[in-house]
Amino acid sequence: MTDVYATIRERMIREQLLPRGIDNEYTLQAMREVPRHLFVDDAMRGRAYGDYPLPIAAGQTISQPFIVAYMTQALNLTGTEKVLEIGTGSGYQAAVLSRICEKVYTVERIHSLLASARRIFDQLRYYNIVAKLDDGTLGWPENGPYDAIVVTAGGPIIPAPLIGQLADGGRLIMPVGDQELQRLQLVTRRGGETGIDFLESVRFVNLIGAFGWDN
Ligand code: SAH
Repeated sequence: MTDVYATIRERMIREQLLPRGIDNEYTLQAMREVPRHLFVDDAMRGRAYGDYPLPIAAGQTISQPFIVAYMTQALNLTGTEKVLEIGTGSGYQAAVLSRICEKVYTVERIHSLLASARRIFDQLRYYNIVAKLDDGTLGWPENGPYDAIVVTAGGPIIPAPLIGQLADGGRLIMPVGDQELQRLQLVTRRGGETGIDFLESVRFVNLIGAFGWDN
């Protein structure tokens, strides 16, 4: 049986990713491989590869495919990295990352989302993803430092604990701004110095926690 979803993913890559500057082969390969439709409700499978975010449980969202690819590409992964994600949500971004790094640690604050994401990781045998329930603005200090950190919820500032858990030479990407609109910020750490690049404007759900919003 031909995998109809594989064909749809190829079209997603051709129409949504390549024309907008996603050209990193690892990123494209991961987007080609991960079955995004498994990370949304059954009723939304037909729209899983559309050029927009979709609602998931608990009032949260799975990001638009382009944004997932864009954030992944910005991390410059080569396959050997240890990556921390804050905001597991559906699990889709973690799944994409897991195809092109050594290990993904992902933190989610809503139990039902975490449980559902874990089930899909097991089903797909993505065994290099470890997920836990916690306030991700505190990071996951026991396993750090991380070569890359991706925050997939929008906050007012970059949480200091996350900068502290970034390895030398590491990269962190996060949407920073108010609750309506944010800008993706890419932090690079070299020795004691950190640099920040300001990238696309985006709209993410709230990062809620000690170094995020109150609610
Ligand atoms: N990466 C996800 C995006 C989910 S939306 C995906 O691919 O589907 C952002 C998620 O961040 C939500 O599930 C929300 O519950 C979670 N979140 C918000 N604040 C958090 C915090 N402090 N720690 C961990 N997760 C958080």
